[in-house]
Amino acid sequence: MELKDKKILVVGLARTGAAVARFLAERGARVTVSDSKGREALADFLQALAGLDITYELGGHGDDTFREADLVVVSPGVPMDIAPLTLARNCGIPVISEIELAYQFIKAPIAAITGTNGKTTTTTLTGEIFRKCGFSTFVGGNIGNPLVDLVISGEPVERVVAEISSFQLEGIIDFRPRVAVLLNITEDHLDRYASYQEYIDAKLMVFANQTGEDFAVLNIDDPLVAACAGNLAARVVPMSRFTVLEQGIYYHEGMITFAWEGREEHFPTASFKLRGVHNIDNCMAALATTLLLGCPAASARAAVEGFTGLPHRMELVATVNGVAYYNDSKGTNVGSVVKSLESFPGNITLIAGGKDKGGEYTPLAELVRNRVVHLILLGEARDRIRDALGHLTHTILVNSLEEAVQEANRLTVPGDVVLFSPACSSFDMFKNYEVRGERFVAAVRNLLEGTE
Ligand code: ADP
Repeated sequence: MELKDKKILVVGLARTGAAVARFLAERGARVTVSDSKGREALADFLQALAGLDITYELGGHGDDTFREADLVVVSPGVPMDIAPLTLARNCGIPVISEIELAYQFIKAPIAAITGTNGKTTTTTLTGEIFRKCGFSTFVGGNIGNPLVDLVISGEPVERVVAEISSFQLEGIIDFRPRVAVLLNITEDHLDRYASYQEYIDAKLMVFANQTGEDFAVLNIDDPLVAACAGNLAARVVPMSRFTVLEQGIYYHEGMITFAWEGREEHFPTASFKLRGVHNIDNCMAALATTLLLGCPAASARAAVEGFTGLPHRMELVATVNGVAYYNDSKGTNVGSVVKSLESFPGNITLIAGGKDKGGEYTPLAELVRNRVVHLILLGEARDRIRDALGHLTHTILVNSLEEAVQEANRLTVPGDVVLFSPACSSFDMFKNYEVRGERFVAAVRNLLEGTE
């Protein structure tokens, strides 16, 4: 892709937009950045770009700016259907996402990980396995660094692992991963998509440019994922926690087996440190990806055994008065809470609630009835959740996370667990899920101090 003297418009100046603008300016493009936010809100990013020859349009988008560009690059936080982007498309101007731009310059094989839940865990673990197996590896995309950072650095890595969100997939043209993983599809982001189908279609774009030389790792336990297996050009590598497969990767009685073209490798899960049934899926996805891309089984096994997981995802915080407290603040949608509840046989005090995303809470009904003893609800969504689930178990409403933890401490008997898995985003009361998770951890530590 030729960038020199091209008029390129970058829409959205957050972390990714700033990296894109830098990259393009350094390659000699004529860069304009347009953002609906004003100069003050963007001060840090403007500072980071100081000295580069970039034109800014801040505090709103002007039609002419979009009409006159040769190419538009959209940051992940900006919805693809805002009016000025539609205008640019109608003028025949290509509108792409950052991953598409970066893809044009990346030579190493790319493993792309997508799905509603488990992306960050799987992406991180996949990177760890590659590294343990001796491949120089860049891990980025939706987590940590944007892919374009790799291109800017000029580092000649051997493998790239990219966490890909549905938003970024809406803006691809050629993006073609050597391995594409689809972990699951459940309702999410209905506040940003017109329909569930639109969200599903965006996810499936990850396979759009693959050919028979590429692989699609599909979780066939998920009916929506399984349904797309017949329509792909890539070679399908099925993965299952319930079905023994002739070809693919599966879990059966404490063992993950990878069986592919005569190769057979075994991974006993008893020595894995990750908790929760969903993490079996994440391990299988990471193992399939890395074994397909040249990793020997012994080093891959050692990497998985050494992986302790990420904070805010089923993280055991402490045991207080015989009650184990789990921080699952990243459980921001119903699908993830289903998996977190399934990870305990029962006797759960569930703390949930936050900013409502417009989906249904009823997929939790069966699990709440059978495994949740106390349901403690907070945040903007608490009334909606109570209406959907409150009649199934003992339910109370609280006003803060601290109060929720105190009530959990009062109600839960020794041997049971307290699980903070909100099923909602954090933005009603917190800056992000990390801050929310840290507040939960602090509240639990407070209890602990009270007992000492
Ligand atoms: P993502 O990056 O897709 O949000 P994470 O790895 O950060 O995924 O995990 C987010 C939450 O989703 C976790 O807290 C856990 O509750 C749940 N989760 C993780 N992996 C899976 C999976 N494979 N299937 C369903 N839920 C999962």
